[in-house]
Amino acid sequence: MKKQFVVIGLGRFGSSLTRTLIENNHEVLALDKDINLVEKMATIATHVVQGDSTDETVLQELGVHHFNHAVVAIGENLQASILTTLLLKEMGLSKVTAKATNATHGKVLMKIGVDQVVYPERDMGIRLGTQLSSDNLVDYIELSPHYNVVEMKAPQSMNGRTLAQLDIRATYGCNILAIKSGESVNISPKAEDVIRTEDILLMIGSNKEIRHMEDKYGHKW
Ligand code: ATP
Repeated sequence: MKKQFVVIGLGRFGSSLTRTLIENNHEVLALDKDINLVEKMATIATHVVQGDSTDETVLQELGVHHFNHAVVAIGENLQASILTTLLLKEMGLSKVTAKATNATHGKVLMKIGVDQVVYPERDMGIRLGTQLSSDNLVDYIELSPHYNVVEMKAPQSMNGRTLAQLDIRATYGCNILAIKSGESVNISPKAEDVIRTEDILLMIGSNKEIRHMEDKYGHKW
């Protein structure tokens, strides 16, 4: 479904967000006070405007209140980030997401009624740190602070063994949701399916269970 977004601030974060939304066929009204960034973005987006988002008249003239979701992608300039967020909430936007550069910034944004705070630098650091901590982790989705869905390269020690033989659910409490073998994906793995070293396993489990399983296979992965 096509959605409409307002993106305020076209730095690295705001511009990559805008690009991704446009690539996914959504409509974006982008705003930045820097004309160079506006001109750059104008080559891919149709509604790109130069203006100051802390000026209520600018936001009103742009019809920002007709949009459901705005993203405030201003980080360094705290005052501009906070004032813009406040104006957007006052204008009645049902969802405002704002980028925070640190926990205090995030706290203030929450206090003034922002719906979602994102911490791109902190989250990317956690993500990369988690990936680098494991030799086999390809990617992961955090379901909650304790549960993850992880994509892992199958360890050498599993090569040629069936899911029944490995008995991962009973031994470690994790479930294998799918097995990727090259281009093909087995989305309903059966007990008799055989794991190969080059396979990628999509697993769900608690962090503790997944770590436990990794430790067990660790030196052989
Ligand atoms: P990024 O990390 O995304 O590259 P940054 O930290 O380098 O961003 P920020 O200070 O977070 O820079 O600003 C992001 C963008 O927001 C900049 O392009 C800046 O011109 C724009 N911006 C800042 N204040 C305003 C404002 N009041 N109105 C419109 N745009 C603004």
